[in-house]
Amino acid sequence: MRKFIAAANWKMNCTKEQAKTLVEDLLAISHTLDKRHLVVLGVPFPYLIMVKDLVGQNNEFFSVAAQNLHHKVSGAFTGEVSAPMLASIGVEYVIIGHSERREQFGEDGALLKQKVDIALEYGLKPIFCCGEPLEVREAGNEQEYVRRQLHESLFHLTAEQMKHVVIAYEPIWAIGTGKTATVQQAQDMHFHLRAMLIKQYDENVANTISILYGGSVKADNAESLFNCPSVDGGLVGGASLIAADFEKIIEGLKR
Ligand code: PEP
Repeated sequence: MRKFIAAANWKMNCTKEQAKTLVEDLLAISHTLDKRHLVVLGVPFPYLIMVKDLVGQNNEFFSVAAQNLHHKVSGAFTGEVSAPMLASIGVEYVIIGHSERREQFGEDGALLKQKVDIALEYGLKPIFCCGEPLEVREAGNEQEYVRRQLHESLFHLTAEQMKHVVIAYEPIWAIGTGKTATVQQAQDMHFHLRAMLIKQYDENVANTISILYGGSVKADNAESLFNCPSVDGGLVGGASLIAADFEKIIEGLKR
C-alpha cells in the first residue's frame, strides 16, 4: 500500500546549526509514527550528508530528499549536483519540477523528463511537482494543464518505474501565498490525477503512488486536507521550518 507522506521543502533556508536542531526536534517524534507514515526532509545540498547521518541508515519513518539534481551524469557543469553523487551519499528522494525551478530557472517538461529518468536510473525516487498558475485555474483549465505536465515528463515511464514516483500537486497560486486550495479543490484534482494514472497504467500502479498536496499547508489546515480520501499527505514549504508546526502537520497524516 502507498505511504502517507509529510515532505518538507526547506528551499534556501537554515544555517547548519538551525538545520541540525530542526532535524533533532523532528526525530524526537519518531515513536508516534507507524509504518504507513513517512517524513521526507528536503534539505539544501550542503546539509544532505549531515541530515542523512542524523536520520540514520535504516530509519523506516524518516528519509532525506535533495531539492534538485542535474540531468547529466557528470562533466563540465560548474555548480551542479548529479544523481550518482546523491545516490552515493544515501539520498533516497529528489524533488523535481517544483514551480520555482520551472519559473525561475526555466526548467521545462522535456528537461524534467530527463531529470526524472536520471533520478530513477540511480535509484532516487522523484517527488514530481505539478500544478497550475492562477489564470489557468480561473479559466477552469487546471485539469488539462496538469495532465499535460504529466504527459510531458512522466508518462513515458514503465509501470515498474512509475511505482517509484511520488506526485505532488502544488497549485502555483497557493505556494508561499498563504492561500490554500479548498479541501474540495484538492480532492477533485487528486481524484483526477489518480484517474489519469489508472488510464495511463492501471489500478495497481495508481494505488501504489502517493499523491501529495502542496501550497500553504499549515499546522491548522493539514488535517482537513490530509483527510481527503485522495490526498496522501503534503509537500510543505514555510511550515516545515518550524519544528512544532511541522510536527502538527505530521500528526495530520494519522487518519
Ligand atoms: C513548496 O515550496 O513546495 C510549498 C508548498 O511551499 P509553502 O508550503 O510555503 O506554500
